[in-house]
Amino acid sequence: MGGIGIIRMSGKETFTILEKIFKLKNPEKIENISGYSIKYGHIVDNEKIVDEVLVSYFKAPKSYTTEDMCEINSHGGTIVMRKILELCLKNGAELAEPGEFTKRAFLGGRIDLSQAESVIDIINAKSESEAKEGIKQLEGFLSEKINETKRILLEMITNIEVSIDYPEYDTPEVTMEDMLQKISNLKSELENLKKSFDNGKIIKDGIKTVIIGKPNAGKSSLLNAILKEDRAIVTEVEGTTRDTIEEFVNINGIPLKLVDTAGIRDSEDTVEKIGIEKSKKLAQDADLIIAILDSSKELSKEDEEILKIAKNKKSIIVLNKSDLEQKVTRENQKLDIFYKNTINLSAKNKNGLESLYEKINNMFNLNEINLDNDVVITNERHKNLIEKAMQNLEKATNILKEGMPIDIVAISLKDVLSNLNSITGEEVGEEIINEIFSRFCLGK
Ligand code: GDP
Repeated sequence: MGGIGIIRMSGKETFTILEKIFKLKNPEKIENISGYSIKYGHIVDNEKIVDEVLVSYFKAPKSYTTEDMCEINSHGGTIVMRKILELCLKNGAELAEPGEFTKRAFLGGRIDLSQAESVIDIINAKSESEAKEGIKQLEGFLSEKINETKRILLEMITNIEVSIDYPEYDTPEVTMEDMLQKISNLKSELENLKKSFDNGKIIKDGIKTVIIGKPNAGKSSLLNAILKEDRAIVTEVEGTTRDTIEEFVNINGIPLKLVDTAGIRDSEDTVEKIGIEKSKKLAQDADLIIAILDSSKELSKEDEEILKIAKNKKSIIVLNKSDLEQKVTRENQKLDIFYKNTINLSAKNKNGLESLYEKINNMFNLNEINLDNDVVITNERHKNLIEKAMQNLEKATNILKEGMPIDIVAISLKDVLSNLNSITGEEVGEEIINEIFSRFCLGK
């Protein structure tokens, strides 16, 4: 139910079907209606008016799918929309598969596979930066980067193949040093892309954060203080393990995924106190540990256990209850190794939250993730393909160094190309052949 509902049609028969069910207020022939225009009228079922609508026209190839398309903007009630949908189907349309419009855009060649994938990322984005990454990818930033790498690869393969197949032609010389240098450059380009995945992962999934501390240290108070921040956008997501809830919080651009917040909340009712054992377990696969100590009391054995857990991870030590007289300060010997990442905080008065966020910012170089200029990989599939491409480049390097025949190098390079082509969703083969002829005019 909503103010407006949209039913989209795409394909050759779009306007034929539309003409059967849509009566324009001012009748016009479809040939005379230009793309990107909106017309007013009524959806009718055998002369009977079903709804008053606006219809947007998109003419091939200038549409989302590259096909003829229309969007019927009706009133948003389910009855009316279902009726219009039925009318479309009765007159020859078929229900679209999930993602079919974007798939058609890909098949129609308007966007490549990585761009098509970004559409879903934009829709599913949980933070502004994630949406921004998706939009960049849709705009073709990643494709551009991959295509640039592909061009260099193609040139290398072409040179090798030409020197093998047409030794009588004057072709640029293929030297080993030159090839090794080019391969090494490509490797470092891909290495950068791979590294960006970790940043991309932070943007996409958030920093997996666990709050640990002995009972009454102030875990649930801190959690509440964080969640109640004005600028916090909280999305509850199901935890990876049973019985845990994860909350995605975006505070001022810092994406945190708080793990097992339920456990912390329950501890008030002593249903389930988070003990040392459970903390250890949760900490295992966390990106960040926030360890809370009650600074108004001397450090206890339990606190020392907590510090032990924090030792092996990226951790921030929170000296909570700083509004009370402090028995534990940053200078405490037992906090020596954490000195740089220890902060005073009062969950009760909400003092010190800013320095907590600042520490997280610095720890994860959030300021350095340059979303505006760098190409960031956010997709696991892309990362895996890039890793495969890097392995194949490594292979090519070894083959060269071992002095094996040059056509074997070409095979590894083709594998790299096909890895990259899988990112953008193209086929290899013909491409190489076309490239040879277009650049060297051998066919004349
Ligand atoms: P948890 O068991 O670690 O989740 O601890 P709670 O958040 O439930 O806090 C335990 C007690 O300490 C509660 O009575 C809180 O009101 C109190 N408390 C928590 N943070 C502070 C603080 O910063 N200052 C003071 N004075 N009391 C606090």
